[in-house]
Amino acid sequence: MKGLKPRIVMSACLAGDNVRYDGVPVRDDFSLKLSTFVEVIKVCPEVELGLGVPRDKVILYHSEEGPRLFQPATDRELTEDMLSFARNFLKSLPPVDGFLLKSKSPSCGVSRTKTYRDKEGRLFRGFGKGIFALEVLKRFPHLPVEDELRLVNRRKKLEFLLGIYMFSFLREKEPKKLHSLIQEPLSLFLPGTERRLRKANVEEYGLFIKKILKKLPVGVLETLGEKFLPEKLRA
Ligand code: SF4
Repeated sequence: MKGLKPRIVMSACLAGDNVRYDGVPVRDDFSLKLSTFVEVIKVCPEVELGLGVPRDKVILYHSEEGPRLFQPATDRELTEDMLSFARNFLKSLPPVDGFLLKSKSPSCGVSRTKTYRDKEGRLFRGFGKGIFALEVLKRFPHLPVEDELRLVNRRKKLEFLLGIYMFSFLREKEPKKLHSLIQEPLSLFLPGTERRLRKANVEEYGLFIKKILKKLPVGVLETLGEKFLPEKLRA
């Protein structure tokens, strides 16, 4: 949509920075393409902790207190440092419309991060989320927060893109304009919601967007995509 530029936080490696632990760049075409349409705030939480590139691998293990971040090669506990960085960083952000983070990472992963029962990373426990990603989800439960792997799914990609564009309307304090664009599918598919949202303020609208997008059929999301998203981003 003309004039709208969502502002998102993106893992620096997805945005093309060479910051991964092994020094091997990530190449994710969708993230790079998205970067050309939105305003990106890049962050590499592990580099921010001063771990350097390349660096010894860090892992996520589970203690009785919950998930912990650890660097086996240096015997270094990193959980408190990461939590402190994440909280300060997230508090310092200007208003943003969403997060796109790197999958599988013990820091950034929203999905498919390996977790272990032990600090050496020998006993596989299952899959979870990274420490930085968990703080993002805690602080911004209403915003779209995804990783590049989950966005391979067409429906999830549409929900994410529509979410960040819709939140950019709200960031610009334009709920009425947003409502005029979505009232038709809402009254057809979610009539109760449509009535409630008609008089909603920015905060109330924000809390509903994610829920609304999850409930609309994928065909309706595609139609909304034609209204909200640049053509090249929909491809
Ligand atoms: S996944 Fe996160 S911590 Fe790891 S390199 Fe990318 S930005 Fe840095």
